Amino acid sequence: METAEIKLNHIETKSVMTKSNTPLGGYSVNPYVGCPHACRYCYASFMKRFTGHTEPWGTFLDVKHWPAIKDAKKYAGQKIVIGTVTDGYNPLEETYENTRRLLEELKDSGGDIVICTKSDLVLRDLDLLKEVNEKCQLTVSWSVNTLDEEFRNDMDAAASIECRLSAMKKVYDAGIRTICFISPVFPGITDIEAIFERAKDQCDLIWLENLNLRGGFKADIMNYIAEKHPELVPLYDSIYNKKERSYFENLERKAREMAERNGCRFVDNETPYERVEKGHPTIVDYFYHEEVRGTQNSGQRRTNK
Ligand code: SF4
Repeated sequence: METAEIKLNHIETKSVMTKSNTPLGGYSVNPYVGCPHACRYCYASFMKRFTGHTEPWGTFLDVKHWPAIKDAKKYAGQKIVIGTVTDGYNPLEETYENTRRLLEELKDSGGDIVICTKSDLVLRDLDLLKEVNEKCQLTVSWSVNTLDEEFRNDMDAAASIECRLSAMKKVYDAGIRTICFISPVFPGITDIEAIFERAKDQCDLIWLENLNLRGGFKADIMNYIAEKHPELVPLYDSIYNKKERSYFENLERKAREMAERNGCRFVDNETPYERVEKGHPTIVDYFYHEEVRGTQNSGQRRTNK
């Protein structure tokens, strides 16, 4: 996907720390509004409604300016997720360094910091990440839902899969906990076993999350499937129009079996904080995201399957 020309704004905000209702709980921290990575399935595109933006998602970026975080230690032990509705390491971070500034401000907080990205720009800050890791619990997560660069390129304007995996390895080798976030899992396209094999020696956690097509992007994705994968149209119709659950229920079962075969823990909606023996990442099941939202990573779902 080609990177669109980005309309840039600067905005003042009272605080960069926002209470979160994601499954992880704690705080969501987004140093920017908007995201040049422009993923076609981006759940964050709903942000436009709250920010007055009418431009297509992926074509604008607001650079936030916030008063310096005072008393960062009040976030000790709290989950702080950087990049829930933007990518803090989008290409404009190279110029504006908002995420770097944020990490400087939080590095002594003792927080439980998770950075979510699809970029290798994170390597620019490797020395800073090591410092953060000394006083905080730090985890860096890369989203990888395919090993096929062509499909990746159809879906986003972020770094290549190889760049993401190579950055993951460098951060892992630097002693920092990493996550391979297999998300969103596209039925019939995402091969979780192949991604597991590729990433298992360089991550502590594998997160699994299903593709959710409740957003305004549903028509676009359905059209894409019809054009590029017509053989999958009945499957997508059954899952996304008829609300059939068996595909993801089977996939959950296969993921659990894969975990058993590989000597990995398999957990539901929780993020244990151990480092694991190389090659045995803990697999965390976030399928049916809507059932775990706001559950504070408790290992519980809000409804029974
Ligand atoms: S990287 Fe994340 S926030 Fe950015 S467009 Fe993609 S899904 Fe949305």
